[in-house]
Amino acid sequence: METMDKETLKEEIKKQIKYRFRKNIEDASKQEVYQGICYALKEMIIDEWIDTHKKYETLDSKMVYYLSMEFLMGRALGNNLINFGAYKEVAEVIEELDAGDLYHIEEEEPDAALGNGGLGRLAACFMDSLATLGYPAYGCGIRYRYGMFRQEIENGYQKEMPDEWLKNGNPFEIERPEYAVEIKFGGHVDAEYNENGKMYFVHRDYESIQAVPFDMPIVGYQNGVVNTLRVWDARPMHSFDLDSFDRGNYAKARENKNNARSIVEVLYPNDNHETGKQLRLKQQYFFVSASLQTAVKKYMQRHDNICGLADKVCFQLNDTHPTVAVAELMRILMDEYGVEWEQAWKITTKCCAYTNHTIMAEALEKWPIALFSSLLPRVYQIVEEIHRRFTEEIKAFFGDDQDILSRMSILYDGQVHMARLAIAGSFSVNGVARLHTEILKNQELSDFYKLTPEKFNNKTNGITQRRFLVHGNPELSDWITKQIGAGFITNLPELEKLTALADDKKKMKEFAEIKANNKKRLAAYIQEHNGIEINVNSMIDCQVKRLHEYKRQMLNILYVITLYQEMKENPGKKYCPRTVLFGAKSAPGYERAKLIIKLINNVADTVNNDKSIKNQLKVVFIEDYKVSNAELIFAAADLSEQISTASKEASGTGNMKFMLNGAITIGTMDGANVEIVEEVGRENAFVFGLSSDQVIEYEHNGQYKAIEIYNENPKLKKALDSLVDGTFIKEGEDKNLFQGLHQALLYGQHSNIADRYFVLADYDSYMDAQKQAEELYMNPEEWNRKAFLNVCHAGKFSSDRTIEEYASEIWRLKSII
Ligand SMILES: *Cc1c(COP(=O)(O)O)cnc(C)c1O
Repeated sequence: METMDKETLKEEIKKQIKYRFRKNIEDASKQEVYQGICYALKEMIIDEWIDTHKKYETLDSKMVYYLSMEFLMGRALGNNLINFGAYKEVAEVIEELDAGDLYHIEEEEPDAALGNGGLGRLAACFMDSLATLGYPAYGCGIRYRYGMFRQEIENGYQKEMPDEWLKNGNPFEIERPEYAVEIKFGGHVDAEYNENGKMYFVHRDYESIQAVPFDMPIVGYQNGVVNTLRVWDARPMHSFDLDSFDRGNYAKARENKNNARSIVEVLYPNDNHETGKQLRLKQQYFFVSASLQTAVKKYMQRHDNICGLADKVCFQLNDTHPTVAVAELMRILMDEYGVEWEQAWKITTKCCAYTNHTIMAEALEKWPIALFSSLLPRVYQIVEEIHRRFTEEIKAFFGDDQDILSRMSILYDGQVHMARLAIAGSFSVNGVARLHTEILKNQELSDFYKLTPEKFNNKTNGITQRRFLVHGNPELSDWITKQIGAGFITNLPELEKLTALADDKKKMKEFAEIKANNKKRLAAYIQEHNGIEINVNSMIDCQVKRLHEYKRQMLNILYVITLYQEMKENPGKKYCPRTVLFGAKSAPGYERAKLIIKLINNVADTVNNDKSIKNQLKVVFIEDYKVSNAELIFAAADLSEQISTASKEASGTGNMKFMLNGAITIGTMDGANVEIVEEVGRENAFVFGLSSDQVIEYEHNGQYKAIEIYNENPKLKKALDSLVDGTFIKEGEDKNLFQGLHQALLYGQHSNIADRYFVLADYDSYMDAQKQAEELYMNPEEWNRKAFLNVCHAGKFSSDRTIEEYASEIWRLKSII
């Protein structure tokens, strides 16, 4: 907030470049100028960073620790400049110094991609909102050496490349070696007795690893607050301990020294899918134990009784990934502070709160007991006792019912069920959109809901408008500011005030021009990165999100194929010009998803090179979808594809980013789409498809027959059969390349369920919705009006609203502003 005058700013940037790179600014590379600006900005925020934490200490504020395996931050510089209130000054200064323009200098920064997709991006949005609202909070995570892989497309196939995001250093972070803590793995536990005959547990022959925190500033929006994202790095303990784990074997001890770093080597690139790898559990315990030890120690510096912990500390578990926190907190309380079980359990279940992000079976975390207990022997003992007591509680409530026990037991079938442990150990269990929470209560977690209904609550997700409007769409943000002032930047519902302009022809023309300019900006990006020229007057139709069968990119590409076939059959007819954008990374081991990427690219190739359709349709696969290019895409989009199988997408947040930027949703009644349509009105969206109740009913009764739909629908049959008739096969490729996709939809493969995600069931209504979209687009004024109304009614979907709800209803935090 306390920005410098421009001359001081110039001197500061020049000084940073000189001392860091031994260069004058005229000789510095763009990367060096970028770093110079970062370090200058870091100097400006450092006092507020220190003061914020002083204030938390002085006020003895209750603090939330947001525990998350993932923080999908994207780039920091632009966001920090905006929130600090120095963006425009710095942009001017850079030009005056003749050092390039800020927009291009920002591109020097690699995305901090410490996350897969929605879940990690949610954590990043929450960090921004917490700081902006002045809430005492730490983000706690892992400082992966390599984040989400960089995606290259080669011959239409995804290729994964390492993400070397730390190659040029990370200017905003600060290493805090003085706060390093010890983390213990393996070994065994002995029960011993003290002189009073009281039993205690000694952990022996373990391997020690040092956790070293790196702090990154989270700048609140022009409010003087700077919070901290603390990510942990792993190191070998200083002098490796020959005594404790490997007496006399020096070489082997050296080897373990290298193993330490492997814990934080890389982010697991699976979205909504768990593979049960030991290293993954090691990552989880590593950052959870480090964060909890630190939080408890910090609390004890200002308080003398550990029993008051829950008055000052809350741990929010972002999905089940940090669930080991429940048992680890019990261990710290009992083994390190001598608290008795009952008391420790009271404290733990007042400190922990759990957010559920999915109900899909393949995403549920389960650990084989053998693996869990050998890696974390003391923690496992505690899990066993939690299980024993929880089982008693279940039996007392439901009776001795084996069915119920099979659905609720923490230890079951040789595995530790993490969601069950999280629910048992938390005072709050929340879903991330209204529909999702209802499904949790009435279906997936209905037994738990019956046992403890008071724990369950909903917190519909949100996104930060500072990044996805003010930074990502500066032209629209400035225009809105001219119309209604800048209040929306911290109070998004103020966008409602714009509604009055919907009937003002001149204003609506200005709004349309901004979208047109954003399309040009995106077209330049696509020209540069894909070498494809797109029609900026065409409908920009976007599906950007992780590649997953439940998200149904398949349904989208089937529509593209249908449209292409129609164009070929009607050569004289004029169609609504469309550019269909896909952006999606697939998990490297997810073969079917990777094949869908290949299919999209082959369809793109065929369609884009077919002169007979006269450029009325283009298909573009945007390589390496990530936060920074996402910002460009949202700003330029006309149509937002949110077409998951109803009940499968817990919330979605991409849907909200599109809405905020004036794209119209074509979507199913799934996740937060339900609430988006409720806010904007059904007439301002294109809704289609089975309801979640219908999907769930089909899943229960097994009556769904994809093949019948195929046989009865010639258009669909023609589109689907083009996958196996060679239409999209290129020279030299196996003509059966896409047969597996065809098979999976009609007959089922592996899972033996045909069309698990009801693509064919929704095909017809999706076609109808697409036709409505095309018709509307041919009437630009009407389209523009509806797109504009989406912006006006996006107020609910700010993560500021979400965080206010968490703070008042779960965390009971007080803002310092
Ligand atoms: C918002 C966002 C997501 C989540 O998108 P969904 O459509 O909700 O799945 C994933 N990746 C990036 C880079 C994002 O910005």
